[in-house]
Amino acid sequence: MYITQISQLIGHTPLIDLQLDIPNHSHIFAKLEMFNPGGSIKDRLGQFLIADGFNRHLINASTTIIEPTAGNTGIGLALAAQQHHLKTILVVPEKFSYEKQQLMQALGATIINTPSNEGITGAITKAKALAQEIENSYLPMQFANSANPDTYYQTLAPEIIQDLNGKKITAFVAGAGSGGTFAGVAKYLNARDKQIQNIVVEPEGSILAGGPAHAHRTEGIGVEFMPPFFDHLSIQKIMTISDHDAFYQVREAAKQLGLFIGSSSGAALAASLKLAESLPENSNIVTIFPDSSERYMSDHIYSK
Ligand code: PMP
Repeated sequence: MYITQISQLIGHTPLIDLQLDIPNHSHIFAKLEMFNPGGSIKDRLGQFLIADGFNRHLINASTTIIEPTAGNTGIGLALAAQQHHLKTILVVPEKFSYEKQQLMQALGATIINTPSNEGITGAITKAKALAQEIENSYLPMQFANSANPDTYYQTLAPEIIQDLNGKKITAFVAGAGSGGTFAGVAKYLNARDKQIQNIVVEPEGSILAGGPAHAHRTEGIGVEFMPPFFDHLSIQKIMTISDHDAFYQVREAAKQLGLFIGSSSGAALAASLKLAESLPENSNIVTIFPDSSERYMSDHIYSK
């Protein structure tokens, strides 16, 4: 078999049954989203947002795409935009990984950095201002666009069901940045089985569980405002994971499984292991590993 477009490699990632010592003889199944061609779960979103923009006649051949992003959505969008020769401007808070910013530039995107202390909110404000200034621009706005959870409802969630081949899911555990992944998958799974518990993961410094907002090292998850996609969603638990615990699991995954995972995956793994302690014997936990550690080497992911 051969392919002609890199986009053909998006999705249908492997689901791994983690061979770890898991409490109560439970299983943790993790969807390995680093195997998408742009290296993360957000390749799916980039494709979907551009296709949706064309379908709704919000994009034409000379449109400039503008988006605030922590990085992975930027890479996914730049990858999709590149196929259509669209100009892309990505607004990224300075603090996000050097590697991700390099990859966006390699795909032809222009990056505008906003101050780290203004967080993603600062990047959103700047992106909105640019969209006002630049003629024939389109701001997909992942943080408020229902195409975001729809992407995961239509692609990732059915893949999980297919991958599990009839195994019953006890709990779905995933981090939230924009909340699109969690909301789309949780909605799909609950429509098939209301018993599945939805557990959202956040780093310390994110506001979901009511804690004060502050900086954290875990990258890609954590929210500064409640995702609008969480309205009407049944969420059983919010698990707040420290940077220490997330990075510990990043190291353990490499040592014990030979798997390179980013810190949001580390947080998802830490939460899944902790959750297994309180679930019945032989539970099946499904989680997502959104990207790889390789794009955080400049942040010394294995040595700090
Ligand atoms: N992990 C990583 C590494 C990410 O880049 C993102 C997206 N910011 C997420 C998790 C969270 O995904 P979502 O925006 O769908 O909540």
